[in-house]
Amino acid sequence: MTQGIGKVVGWQQQLADCVEDPVELFNMLDIDQQELSGAMRAIQSFALRVPRSFVARMKLGDINDPLLRQVLPLGEELQAHPGFTQDPLNELAQNPVPGLLHKYQGRVLLTVAGACAINCRYCFRRHYPYQDNIPGTKGWQLALDYIASDTSIREVIYSGGDPLVAKDNVLENLTSRIAAIAHVQVLRIHTRLPVVLPARVCDRLLNWLQATRLKTVLVIHANHANEINREVTLALKQLRAAGITLLNQSVLLKDVNDSVSALAELSWALFDNGVMPYYLHLLDAVAGAAHFNVDQQQAVALHQQLRHKLPGYLVPKLVKEMPGELSKLPII
Ligand SMILES: *Cc1c(COP(=O)(O)O)cnc(C)c1O
Ligand code: SF4
Repeated sequence: MTQGIGKVVGWQQQLADCVEDPVELFNMLDIDQQELSGAMRAIQSFALRVPRSFVARMKLGDINDPLLRQVLPLGEELQAHPGFTQDPLNELAQNPVPGLLHKYQGRVLLTVAGACAINCRYCFRRHYPYQDNIPGTKGWQLALDYIASDTSIREVIYSGGDPLVAKDNVLENLTSRIAAIAHVQVLRIHTRLPVVLPARVCDRLLNWLQATRLKTVLVIHANHANEINREVTLALKQLRAAGITLLNQSVLLKDVNDSVSALAELSWALFDNGVMPYYLHLLDAVAGAAHFNVDQQQAVALHQQLRHKLPGYLVPKLVKEMPGELSKLPII
């Protein structure tokens, strides 16, 4: 169908056409050029990258826009902060075969793609050497053998980077090889694409997701209610219609969503779209992201107020990731 093909071309073109030049971003948003020199320095260590459809949801002339804050390179990223390091989760040590992380019982995480559609300044993998750790089509055999040899693995998680940056034929092929392993029951995908580039939810994606025998869970990573516009609503509706369980995970970020009202609005917006709040993560202490930090005491207080304001099913679990622990750690 021509309509389907048109949509496929659409997302790949949009991905190729992201905004990467701070000058252009500042001009598009009519932002004062004062912060520009800091931005130019910050992109030397972590590139600017943001889809145009995401920029279109930001407020003009507002450097404090909660969507802009997530992608805006700032000079202060270059300042060292004690405790903020390159690999805060010590992931490089938990990598039994290329592309596979096995930290928790029953589930393994595959780094399916190295790139993202958006570069989030708070990302805990902003220094991760993806290029050395994406096995490519042939190399997945080692990971698949690892999964096949451990019958305790019920769930395979696609992560990255953003796994949905990969093309559908690659994902479909990998998924069918995983589905051939009898003890795997669930495929979970952690992705920001349905939110930051909703055109990615194309017919081909929906087709293979619907066709697999695996139960499918998709965890979108929205941090603020303003991210969910009409296009995102339509994409989420199509995913739900395909029988996919939708969850959301966010990161608690200073000047983005560190208020009870922002967090409550996000939960309601998600629920309106059939997405259940799952986790609210404390920031991982990655070098360059200290300006997003909300201290733990304040996070606990916010979370308590959120519990008082929302029905229990709309309150995400407040968690923190600690190297060496057997799960994400609840914070109370
Ligand atoms: C977060 C994470 C998971 C999933 O943990 P859940 O608590 O099941 O969401 C699995 N593997 C790795 C390596 C992770 O970081
Ligand atoms: S891995 Fe996730 S948080 Fe990190 S840059 Fe990509 S989309 Fe953003």
